[in-house]
Amino acid sequence: MLTVTLVPILEDNYAYIIQSQDSIAIIDPGESKAIINALEKLNITPSFILNTHHHWDHVNGNKQIKEKYNVEIIGPESERKSIPELDTGLKNGDIFNFGDETVEVIETQGHTLGHICFYFKNSKILFSGDTLFSLGCGRLFEGTAEQSFNSFKKLKALPDDTKIYCGHEYTLENAEFCLSVDPDNQHLIKRIKEIENLRTNNKPTLPVTLEQEKKTNIFLKAKNAEEFKKFRELKDNF
Ligand SMILES: [Zn+2]
Repeated sequence: MLTVTLVPILEDNYAYIIQSQDSIAIIDPGESKAIINALEKLNITPSFILNTHHHWDHVNGNKQIKEKYNVEIIGPESERKSIPELDTGLKNGDIFNFGDETVEVIETQGHTLGHICFYFKNSKILFSGDTLFSLGCGRLFEGTAEQSFNSFKKLKALPDDTKIYCGHEYTLENAEFCLSVDPDNQHLIKRIKEIENLRTNNKPTLPVTLEQEKKTNIFLKAKNAEEFKKFRELKDNF
């Protein structure tokens, strides 16, 4: 079983502290202070950092957390040069154990060229970084719409009851965009009410299930790379 503690950091990022048996890791520490505080509150010591991609708001805490806890840092091999202190590089299809979990590495090019997602098979939990947001998709800084469409295809193949944790709280603004493209979607209209409620109470909108996302996220509904590209361009100018 995997326990997930969400840690809000920086402006609107989420880092995560995850535990399975004796294994404890931090996902995407974009800063160190809030995360060290959360670890001390939980009274636990991490052994690993998992990075999804090289952007500063996902890796800036690497060095200080490593200095304090001597963690092993794991992330995409192809972004080694830009991930501080990376120890172990991973590539698409790699599998590793974490406590009683089996973790599958899914490379999802698009937002960056080496971006990886971590799928915890036993608990059916996906950490999607900045590839798949709730109701959105990461900006295509390095990859093409075609690459991103193919990445989404890989994520779509996971079980419908997969719980998704992503790297930012962008859900409400993403919802407004989805609604502008898909105004008659009753699932979306219902979900927006739930999202507004959560945000009014300052609560995270995550995790979300893949099933919910398939019904409401316009990027997961794109039928082909061309349509995906069109949606991404509309969103860039929204
Ligand atoms: Zn990013």
